[in-house]
Amino acid sequence: MIRFGIGTDRHRLGVGRKLILGGVEVPSPKGAVGHSDADSLTHAIIDALLGAAGLGDIGHHFPDSDPKWKNASSIEMLKKVVETLGVSGYKPVNVDSTVHLELPKLGRLKQEMTGKLADALGLPRHLVNVKAKSGETVGTVGRGEVVEAIAVAQVESITPE
Ligand code: MG
Repeated sequence: MIRFGIGTDRHRLGVGRKLILGGVEVPSPKGAVGHSDADSLTHAIIDALLGAAGLGDIGHHFPDSDPKWKNASSIEMLKKVVETLGVSGYKPVNVDSTVHLELPKLGRLKQEMTGKLADALGLPRHLVNVKAKSGETVGTVGRGEVVEAIAVAQVESITPE
């Protein structure tokens, strides 16, 4: 059986924080504010996977009230989610995603993100896709106030571990 899931995520941008997307540090004067490393792209992918497997959401698995996840690596969280999926009898098939960010342009960094995400997902790179869009200077993205991401994931049934 094939199942689909969708995930979205948003973090406020502010000075004094790193901007991590897909496990890659993006050179930027502003970073993403959040409890973990605030990696919007990885968070959206985690929610898409959990949604596809019917396993709730990121807040349920990694509560921001838990000090364990303070400044946590979202790529490590993604690896844990892939394990959780395996225990429940699912594995990722493919992931597509879009980052909404005004600046900087992500350019070649998208390839680096794809590699990190594919490794965490246990997928070949061609089954993981990262796209990027600006906010065209309008709205919260366009004014550089937030970074947002959206992702869809497909999972398939496997024999539970
Ligand atoms: Mg988040």
